[in-house]
Amino acid sequence: MLLWIKGANSPQQIRDKLLDCNSDFSNNLIAYLNSAFSGDFIAGSLTAARSIMDDNYSNVSNVNLPTHQLPSVAPSLCSEQCHHCNQCNNNEDWWSKYKTEVDFILLKSNIHDHELGLSENDKGKGLLGPYCEKKGKCKARFPRPCYPETVIDLPTGHINMKKTEPMLNTIAYIITFLLRCNTDVTCLLSGTAIKAVIAYITDYISKNPLKTYMVFDIIRSIYNKNKQ
Ligand SMILES: [Zn+2]
Ligand SMILES: [Zn+2]
Repeated sequence: MLLWIKGANSPQQIRDKLLDCNSDFSNNLIAYLNSAFSGDFIAGSLTAARSIMDDNYSNVSNVNLPTHQLPSVAPSLCSEQCHHCNQCNNNEDWWSKYKTEVDFILLKSNIHDHELGLSENDKGKGLLGPYCEKKGKCKARFPRPCYPETVIDLPTGHINMKKTEPMLNTIAYIITFLLRCNTDVTCLLSGTAIKAVIAYITDYISKNPLKTYMVFDIIRSIYNKNKQ
């Protein structure tokens, strides 16, 4: 799915505004991007996410794991939003469950494994498995480049978003929570990237399961049938 924000600046206008040192445009844009998607665990790191998963799910049966359950509805805060009553406590419990569930789903379905599909003998040798190798490289582009902080590269205006997990792709937590599977969410901030994704999606949704010669063959057989 490609979302185009109506009335938004074009990539070139965004770049010009980013390079203008006198505006708070870049801070606002970075805050927006940080709220829209991420390439890290909510817990902060892979180790922290793994330890939270062990604490919360090691004794949970398969069928009750977040990847096998539908998302739960969030209870609202009370009308005073007091943060002390039972209703407010339920809401806070829901948010903490939301965070552990999202990290659990990311651990289970978004961590890339180069060795998937390799035999036990070939594992640990730095080889790429059949699902990710293409011309000697990982076709899923892992490991991804990491940046300790979000920075704007000044001569080019390119935004490098904060990212610390090289083997995790970029996601939106709420989409991971709702769809409960592997997803990929990213912000397309260059004309080239937008065109590449439009071509990719168009190709995907218009992929015809029938080859052209099969379509003609079917048409011919219908004609022949009706002639008789
Ligand atoms: Zn309350
Ligand atoms: Zn790979």
